[in-house]
Amino acid sequence: MTDHAQPVAIPEEFLDPEGDGEEQDPDLAEDESGLEATTSALRKLWSQWMCRNGDGRFADVKVFGKGVGGVPEPAVDAYKAFERALRSAGYQPGSQWAYNCRKIAGTNSFSLHSAGIAIDIDPEQNPYSHGNPFSGKIKEHHVNAVLAIKNSQGQSVWSWGGSWSKPDRMHFQLDQGPSLVDVDWATVPGERPTKAMSPVHSPEQAPGEEEENVLTDGATGQAVVDFQNMILSWDSTALPEWGADGDYGNETIEAVKRFQQAKGLDPTGKIDGVTAALLVSSTTS
Ligand SMILES: [Zn+2]
Repeated sequence: MTDHAQPVAIPEEFLDPEGDGEEQDPDLAEDESGLEATTSALRKLWSQWMCRNGDGRFADVKVFGKGVGGVPEPAVDAYKAFERALRSAGYQPGSQWAYNCRKIAGTNSFSLHSAGIAIDIDPEQNPYSHGNPFSGKIKEHHVNAVLAIKNSQGQSVWSWGGSWSKPDRMHFQLDQGPSLVDVDWATVPGERPTKAMSPVHSPEQAPGEEEENVLTDGATGQAVVDFQNMILSWDSTALPEWGADGDYGNETIEAVKRFQQAKGLDPTGKIDGVTAALLVSSTTS
């Protein structure tokens, strides 16, 4: 714990006191599955990363277009899902920071920021103080979008400091160890796309894609109509010739590619779980 990483310039405002979630978050202790890790358990699970940025275990992931000081390699997907969920709920941070080798204020315990498994967003607009946890910039629907992210076991990937007795509104932290932060993309930001896609007949689906329920070239049916309507509500000129005809043809493929490009995704022309989630959220938020 004493070997410090390369110095990183941390903006002063990111030094949230980060009250000890171990004592403050009743949900962690009460979880009936017993699988939810407490803050001290998380500290142990991620101990290999504690204050070790700079020795190759961290990835330089950008969150909302900016570096956040490095995050552990196994947590990269969790951060990508975090960004996608917040964006889909309409939250755009102006400043954000994850890695910071330091102790929790007033304690001898290392902050989870020391392992790069916590992130603060907009500290000035989301201050650390008593009172209504949603009195800052971050609102309930933003938080819910992040908390909707689940791993392959159906467990929460993130928790929020705003639910502690003294709300740390700016602070999100991983809720799982390195082996359980595998993101189930169908849950990002919600599970509606999976339901909508399940009855789809998709003849050209490759065997390896079966579990992800990709909607693609040649698919037909009501789910295709639903997604075509979502595309049209995103851009009313997107399907000029055929409209929402329930046929996943070239016009739909091109429209999906443009939508994916606009959202910063790979333009595959296929509606995978992430694309579906963004289409759903683009019509509801
Ligand atoms: Zn924090």
